[in-house]
Amino acid sequence: MDLKSSERTDALRRELRALIADEAPKIPLRNGTRVVEDPAHWEAWKKWSARLYEKKFVGRSWPVEFGGVADNTPMDEFVVASELARSRVPTLLYFATYAAHAIINYGTQRQKEYFLPRTRNSEIVWCQLFSEPGGGSDLAALKTRAQRDGDVYRINGQKVWNTQAQMAGYGFLLARTSPDGSKHAGITAFLINMRQLGVTVRPIREITGTEDFNEVLFADAEIPVENRIGEEGEGWKIATSTLAKERINTAAYGVATRNSMDDLIAAARKVKAERGLPDGVRHRLASLHAECEISNLLGLVIATREASGKPRLSDPPVAKMFFSNTNLAVATMALELLGEQGLYQESDPGAIERGRWPDMFLYARAYTIAGGSSEIVRNILSERVLGMPRD
Ligand SMILES: Cc1cc2nc3c(=O)[nH]c(=O)nc-3n(C[C@H](O)[C@H](O)[C@H](O)COP(=O)(O)OP(=O)(O)OC[C@H]3O[C@@H](n4cnc5c(N)ncnc54)[C@H](O)[C@@H]3O)c2cc1C
Repeated sequence: MDLKSSERTDALRRELRALIADEAPKIPLRNGTRVVEDPAHWEAWKKWSARLYEKKFVGRSWPVEFGGVADNTPMDEFVVASELARSRVPTLLYFATYAAHAIINYGTQRQKEYFLPRTRNSEIVWCQLFSEPGGGSDLAALKTRAQRDGDVYRINGQKVWNTQAQMAGYGFLLARTSPDGSKHAGITAFLINMRQLGVTVRPIREITGTEDFNEVLFADAEIPVENRIGEEGEGWKIATSTLAKERINTAAYGVATRNSMDDLIAAARKVKAERGLPDGVRHRLASLHAECEISNLLGLVIATREASGKPRLSDPPVAKMFFSNTNLAVATMALELLGEQGLYQESDPGAIERGRWPDMFLYARAYTIAGGSSEIVRNILSERVLGMPRD
């Protein structure tokens, strides 16, 4: 594994730093993937996302005719993702990458020509419509129906936990076109216009106080046949390749955890100066620091192996699990260390750093669930990597 930077990655990093210094919006960031509630902040984020595409820092692996970079490498992508995290600026609008990935790999030329440019310039914001009340981990059990009716499919059913669906213009949807055969076989992927009769989006207020997710209800919502991705019954294949990408991306979050660790050490210094540190804190901080470094390196391992054309099946799930556990441990330790004041939330007078620690603590569980819960990730590792008997 080559850990050294190259002239190429150094140049990329320098260019991105310059863009960040000049143009990154100064909007407050929350842990995780939560939307900003102020419409002006949201517009600023969309504009920033479009600039990152326009300057070809992101979407680099797309076909060149749709804005990609001919000699892009996974290492370039890792450098960009980690630099954005290190600089603590907004990254991309969520789910754009996954929908684009499906369109690029399985979409028609018309779909590419319509959706890809509009994704790059933020005209279309995406959400992911996979999970259902009875089908989260067991995604293949999904029941939302898509029934062909001439030139359209009629959609009926319910999705849940759909991040940013309240802001999205289009959704990347999995629905059942056939109840026959194996449960995986009857699933089809679609691109659905969220702003139409028959689509109801209901935000869900979470323990953090913000509305990250939604439930989405479909009552005879229409999708033109031309917005089906792939053939009927290919949805499972398309979804699993998207979810694998989601796990790879999550691995880049290791950098964000390292930022939080730096802040935790700064907070510990302050506590030490004010009232002294309890026994054992130094050792726990040191060991957490080591774990954050490992989490960060696991992201680099994925990029390096991909760049050398030898990706390893176990890397993304290991990195995802390690990151989500470490992230939770950092947040937990912060709350223990900071005492009562550390519990004050964003709106409480006297909150530390706008209440970022309780927010991070409450949100940290989400990472152990999103994109495949830790239990499911362990199942994947034991079955597909270690060859153990199926669950
Ligand atoms: C922050 C966040 C954002 C999300 N965004 C989206 C989104 O935009 N779009 C979308 O479609 N979904 C989204 N999800 C939903 C997410 O994909 C599901 O929450 C996840 O797949 C788990 O499904 P579930 O919530 O139905 O839990 P369940 O599947 O009901 O699981 C409940 C518990 O049982 C455990 N469990 C289940 N099956 C097994 C098994 N076979 N072996 C061992 N343990 C098991 C799970 O690990 C979990 O602890 C998001 C979730 C989070 C947390």
